[in-house]
Amino acid sequence: MTTGFFWDETCFWHAGGNYAFTVPVGGLVQPMAAGGLPENPETKRRLKNLLEVTGLMRELDVRGAPAATRDDLLRVHPESYLDRFKALSDAGGGEITRAAPFAAGGYEIAAQSAGLAVAAVDAVMSHAVTNAYALSRPPGHHCLPDHPNGFCLMANIAIAIEAALAKGTIQRVVVLDWDVHHGNGTEAIYYARDDVLTISVHQEGNFPLDTGAVEDRGTGKGAGFNVNLPLPAGAGHTAYLHAMDTVILPQIAAFQPDLIIVACGFDAAAIDPLARMLATTDTFREMTLRIKAAAETHCDGRLVLVHEGGYSEFYVPFCGHATIAALSGSSITAPDPIAKNLAVRQPGPRFDAFLRAEIDYLAGKL
Ligand SMILES: [Zn+2]
Repeated sequence: MTTGFFWDETCFWHAGGNYAFTVPVGGLVQPMAAGGLPENPETKRRLKNLLEVTGLMRELDVRGAPAATRDDLLRVHPESYLDRFKALSDAGGGEITRAAPFAAGGYEIAAQSAGLAVAAVDAVMSHAVTNAYALSRPPGHHCLPDHPNGFCLMANIAIAIEAALAKGTIQRVVVLDWDVHHGNGTEAIYYARDDVLTISVHQEGNFPLDTGAVEDRGTGKGAGFNVNLPLPAGAGHTAYLHAMDTVILPQIAAFQPDLIIVACGFDAAAIDPLARMLATTDTFREMTLRIKAAAETHCDGRLVLVHEGGYSEFYVPFCGHATIAALSGSSITAPDPIAKNLAVRQPGPRFDAFLRAEIDYLAGKL
């Protein structure tokens, strides 16, 4: 088997505006000495660097990709949005909504980011590779068709799905979003559709503030084809695996997809600055092994992971390495330097029992 790894240097060149954390600089908010938005190139670049240093990169089928075409983008985004984004990008950059700023050329970089996801799906569906990881940046899962949101400028995964549907290479897709924030953009795009099952496991009430409820199951033809698992803050390793085993994997089995795509954020990790969960490198490794096994059972192993959030410059590379090693079946490891600390910080038996009960309660509402 081979695992494709899709990346492009320009994705690291996407630049945000004058922010400190997620707040514009000004008033009492002092400019940051280094960087501004938590969504910066370092998490992604350091992940790629770690793959090279351990040698795991040499076991992957490393590929580039063309940018998504205008036709690809138009299947998801209206012309009015693309034109407005392109004009502002050509004029030096700016922002269409708060917290999704871009610099000159941001439009082309966003299309490149989507193009990596398109190519990863193509390569898996044509059996050029067994499965794939797309190191897309900017991320995509919060982006609405006419409205950027939460660092996301184009809906990378939806663009890739629609391109493959147009080519007739897929009919039924599962999107599993384990980014710690709700995958509201993907949900909105497929809310009335029954050919794409969207599943989001996220921290309850984190971001966006007003989406991600378990009751939001889809509408019309799409009723029953949207699954939200809003977990309480503090959920850790065993809670995530319980959610996978008791809710997510049975949902995938019932749907019988011909491709599984993971919106792969690493911000459920224990030291992420934008969330309050306790996942570790082991959690991401185990979730990857489970979803890979599900893909082997239901769709000949066809599985694509597309990078989303994850804001710890130190820890994202180790979570990503564990994920990609599991995806590719490699024995090369990058041992977690803080595994002992995070093992101690996991929920104790009483809170874990509460978390399991919460997940079982949510499962009962589906
Ligand atoms: Zn996120």
